[in-house]
Amino acid sequence: MRERPYCTAILLAAGKGKRMGTTVSKQFLPICGKEILAWTVDVFENSPSVDEIFLVAHADGMDDVKQMQNAYLWKKVTRIVEGGKERQDSVYHGLRMLSEQSDVVLIHDGVRPFVTETMISESIQAARQYGAAVIGVPVKDTIKICSADGMALETPERSSLWQIQTPQTFRREVIVSAYQQAKEAQFLSTDDASVAEFAGYSVKVQMGSYRNIKITTKEDLLIAEAFWKEELP
Ligand code: C5P
Repeated sequence: MRERPYCTAILLAAGKGKRMGTTVSKQFLPICGKEILAWTVDVFENSPSVDEIFLVAHADGMDDVKQMQNAYLWKKVTRIVEGGKERQDSVYHGLRMLSEQSDVVLIHDGVRPFVTETMISESIQAARQYGAAVIGVPVKDTIKICSADGMALETPERSSLWQIQTPQTFRREVIVSAYQQAKEAQFLSTDDASVAEFAGYSVKVQMGSYRNIKITTKEDLLIAEAFWKEELP
């Protein structure tokens, strides 16, 4: 590997965002004058650690994303890829587009605009060292495993529980092999680290930030606006 690894960011924007309850998918909602997805892309576009960006969009949103690329003149966005039914399918479609040039792959939710350069560079460093790295934060609430009819079954010890965020970052050969194995075994999960774990890889968990929220519901939008108002000049 070269001294400075070649890094590809796969940014996911193919979800329909049903939990937001709006007609516009959540990643295209404008906040403080810019779409949520554009805030996210800009962080990676301006990152000295990132070489290229693949944007994964829903079939219905491909034109919107192309228009955004024209408007914002993103230079690092080299591919706009059509996503799949589940998040894991969308990631897989992005991974299929990788070339051997990529040393490290960052996978990031398009609706997490508060990602920072420090998170990106530290994730890349950890992925080079461990093969697979995610960021997260210790959970604040007590977590219970419940039955389908809402009865508490188990209460895992809180001190060992982390809430996992993105970017989730990997050496290319690790994540490509893990996703291939998951596909063959029809293993389905909600994050990329679980796919790597399923394939037998160890995953390093590093500190993220309580600000690195995934904008999913209307409440999250209010919180995000408050963060931006504090940060914007
Ligand atoms: O649905 P979830 O909250 O896990 O979505 C996280 C991210 O994955 C979002 O940025 C969403 O746009 C993306 N996603 C995707 N393809 C899907 C489902 C979700 O790219 N089929």
